[in-house]
Amino acid sequence: MKQTQIGRRAILQGSVLLLSSGLAASREVRGSAEQTPSLRLGLVTDIHHADKPTAGTRFYRDSLGKLEEARDFFVREKLPCVIELGDTIDSANTLAAEQDYLRQFWKTFAASGIDRRCVLGNHCVSALTKAEFLEITQQAKTFDSFDLGGFHFVLLDACYRKDGADYGRNNFEWTDANIPPHELDWLRSDLDRTMNKTIVLVHQRLDVPPPYGIQNAAEVRKILQDSGKVLAVLQGHYHPGDYREQNGIPYFTLSAMIEGSGPDNSAYAVLEVFPDDSIRLLGFRKQKGFEHRRA
Ligand SMILES: [Zn+2]
Repeated sequence: MKQTQIGRRAILQGSVLLLSSGLAASREVRGSAEQTPSLRLGLVTDIHHADKPTAGTRFYRDSLGKLEEARDFFVREKLPCVIELGDTIDSANTLAAEQDYLRQFWKTFAASGIDRRCVLGNHCVSALTKAEFLEITQQAKTFDSFDLGGFHFVLLDACYRKDGADYGRNNFEWTDANIPPHELDWLRSDLDRTMNKTIVLVHQRLDVPPPYGIQNAAEVRKILQDSGKVLAVLQGHYHPGDYREQNGIPYFTLSAMIEGSGPDNSAYAVLEVFPDDSIRLLGFRKQKGFEHRRA
């Protein structure tokens, strides 16, 4: 088993060609693969949309434009599903303003018409409660699973304090992220039930310790490993992005869309799963490409 970072030339090739024709760009990159992917889907994370002035490297008012570009690319690629890995919005002075930010995000995201899911991030439930977040994003649960193209997808919710309380109404520290016992029980039985190879989606990290990692990450990793079904874990939260492998499972941390001004500083990705269980992340704009090969 080996993992390689896709060469910078290939990433730039994708990004540069994207400017003229997104579809051609993807075909160009895809042409270098030895196999045809069994599944492709779109990924974005850490959009932090908010109507407020730039703070450091966070250009809040540029985020919806960056999201529109990614969305339109995913539509041209005819992807069956797009997943947002958390922190859709940033904080405001009032609950009503945060609800407005979330509605604006959702309107932009949903305009693709593509099947879409949102993983819960800490910023999604600063002032909002989980119920309010779910209502606007038209989702039933904060941790859930679904099947697509012969694969199983698990969405986890690590927005719980150590005492088990849900995040919401500004009642938490962002470093205190936990997956509580009742969710672990659900995860064990969900993985037990599925016959499909599985991809896990979570906002905070499972491959590093706090502050960016989930407090009980080791316990969660053991459940994923013991199932023998998990092909990859996709995460957000750590804005620079990262890639690590733990006991044979690749953990991809995607780069944040919010960091930097204008379209050149956006980041989004297409995930490709191959028949031999290899996983490839095609990176666009500032997102790096990564590959985890099974051989
Ligand atoms: Zn974030």
